[in-house]
Amino acid sequence: MKSDCGQLIYDLIAELYPICRSITGDGVRRTLRIVGEHIPLDVVEVSSGTRVFDWTVPKEWNIRDAWIRDESGKRIVEFKKHNLHVLNYSLPVRRKIGLAELREHLFTLPDHPDWIPYRTSYYDEAWGFCMTHRQYAQLEDQTYEVMIDSTLEPGSLTYGELLIRGNSDEEILIATHLCHPSLCNDNLSGVALATHLARELVSRNSGYSYRFLFVPGTIGSITWLSLNQQAVGKIRHGLVISLLGDTGSFCYKKSRRGNAEIDRIVARVLQDRSCEHRILDFSPYGYDERQFCSPGFNLPVGRLTRTPNGEFPEYHTSADDLNFVSPNSLAGSFELLLAIVDEIETAERYLNLKPHCEPQLGTRGLYSSTGGEKDLKEFQLALLWVLNLSDGTHSLKDIETISGMPPATLRLAIDALLKTDLLERL
Ligand code: ZN
Repeated sequence: MKSDCGQLIYDLIAELYPICRSITGDGVRRTLRIVGEHIPLDVVEVSSGTRVFDWTVPKEWNIRDAWIRDESGKRIVEFKKHNLHVLNYSLPVRRKIGLAELREHLFTLPDHPDWIPYRTSYYDEAWGFCMTHRQYAQLEDQTYEVMIDSTLEPGSLTYGELLIRGNSDEEILIATHLCHPSLCNDNLSGVALATHLARELVSRNSGYSYRFLFVPGTIGSITWLSLNQQAVGKIRHGLVISLLGDTGSFCYKKSRRGNAEIDRIVARVLQDRSCEHRILDFSPYGYDERQFCSPGFNLPVGRLTRTPNGEFPEYHTSADDLNFVSPNSLAGSFELLLAIVDEIETAERYLNLKPHCEPQLGTRGLYSSTGGEKDLKEFQLALLWVLNLSDGTHSLKDIETISGMPPATLRLAIDALLKTDLLERL
């Protein structure tokens, strides 16, 4: 791993930070275009009005400008200064209104008077502005002009997907949401980490296939699941990743199954690294694990964060900015994700299907190799170790440790044995 990976991940967050994203619209497309400069991403468009289980893909929202102007003509709130100033999914408006009516459309945080809240109104057609409470307190009883230059029209929902094929068709799902505007930990940290993890895995020859999803929260994962119901059977383990750039300790939320292999793998990796961490039971509240773990799917998908949603004051406010996330924390999260991937790749167990005495390898074409004499001997030895230790209790990692053989040679032996009647994966 490159020592500057935390900085690279941070730089991607900084590049994506100014973009005004939502659950649909050009902000999502621009974001995916930038992510696509790092990895060979497929961008999928799903038309507004498409039924996805109990939901409907909404109209597409785009915004160009918005402001509130006072009687003197001074703009007191400007979208172009901070995109959190507009209630996300606001309808277009241009009117002159009095203070009392304006207040009905304003959102502030009295407890944090210098922060702008992040508010959305995806499914109720409304308009509004978010501002600092300090600014709100200075409003006077006069006529204000409000202007939101937005469109809410039939279009599409956009998401990004990348399947990195490994030796097996079985998949590891990594999902992250990308619908938030200028907010860093929630969830540009997830977007940037997923991008760099995918970039790393593209260059590897993995045992499993890896499917990365960059989806708008809730409606995006519902849409993907609705369109990919046949594909979910291949998901062997999954992780929703989010909130991984702050300085808090790691927090793993178990899958709904509670005892899925991914739950044990992540717990083991956190334990082995002896870093401070928490493990939470599943609850139907949070991010897209809610959809992957809905009872009809009940997929082995957990969630990895640092400080969870709602547990830090900067959550969903303008204070979740470029100062709130750090290259150091991002590097630590990246290392943990790589360790989980390594554990996933080596936690597999196999079963020798002919365990009574050694089976004949020559008759199955296993005593040949394209390499030289030394390679052949090593390959044969790897076959014997894999067969001997594949009694259902030893993981690939155990086989590596006990045999002392190079992982790549063991992987070749396993691949060769799986093509015969001698070995199966558990
Ligand atoms: Zn959020």
